[in-house]
Amino acid sequence: MSELRLMAVHAHPDDESSKGAATMAKYADAGARVMVVTLTGGERGDILNPAMDIPEVRGRMAEIRRDEMAKAAEILGVEHRWLGFVDSGLPEGDPPPRLPEGCFALAPLEESTEALVRVIREFKPHVMTTYDETGGYPHPDHIRCHGVSVAAYEAAGDYRRYPDAGEPWNVSKLYYIHGFLRDRMQLLQDEFAKHGLEGPYAKWLEHWDPDRDLFAKRVTTRVECAKYFPQRDDALRAHATQIDPNSFFFAAPMEWQERLWPTEEFELARSRVPVTLPETDLFEGVEVDR
Ligand SMILES: [Zn+2]
Repeated sequence: MSELRLMAVHAHPDDESSKGAATMAKYADAGARVMVVTLTGGERGDILNPAMDIPEVRGRMAEIRRDEMAKAAEILGVEHRWLGFVDSGLPEGDPPPRLPEGCFALAPLEESTEALVRVIREFKPHVMTTYDETGGYPHPDHIRCHGVSVAAYEAAGDYRRYPDAGEPWNVSKLYYIHGFLRDRMQLLQDEFAKHGLEGPYAKWLEHWDPDRDLFAKRVTTRVECAKYFPQRDDALRAHATQIDPNSFFFAAPMEWQERLWPTEEFELARSRVPVTLPETDLFEGVEVDR
């Protein structure tokens, strides 16, 4: 029996748990092999959980984030691979500082693409997920993650490219994850109001970038995965340095999320198999015996 294989390419440890995590947990539970590839070690991530902002943690970020990632992968039921690049950090300030030497965003595209091609040719995914061309969020590693993923999708099946990186493998479909949607946030905010509560999303909605709504229009694929939302949240909480358990991520009751918005959203960006859009399954049209 052939198996279905899904590979999710992410910039930092924790991104896999906040973007498309319930979908991965669903496919893993259904018997597919799911592999998360994390491009960088997340070494330059800030500590976003006040309870973890202590010297014992600050000095060992790289090591702690490895442990957090292993725990999250176990919770989601996925395999995991580090690609070994160094976090570029989020440049803040005006003008923004230069990117640190040796970081992922400055690595030659050929080099990072070859590293990802090598893992693709070994794991042989039918479907890959990554970010859209804006990165989904303007971190240089997220934007680069898009570029590397698209380049590797194109190159992995071409025997002339990276001949020392394994036997060519054609990935059937490539998706962008579109998780951050205004309609979803508004729906949950309205539900808070219905219950006489002040929702946590007012500021987000007020400052919403209308350009982001264009991405919502690009969604081609909605995967029903509400049953796996609790697993998604547990995986996110496993990244204890990166997520405040009191943050707005966890503010909306699970029952509302499951009832009002039971799906995760994707955009089919490239396909080598015939498809009919919209779809409800990332593997639609994929031939298993290859
Ligand atoms: Zn990230």
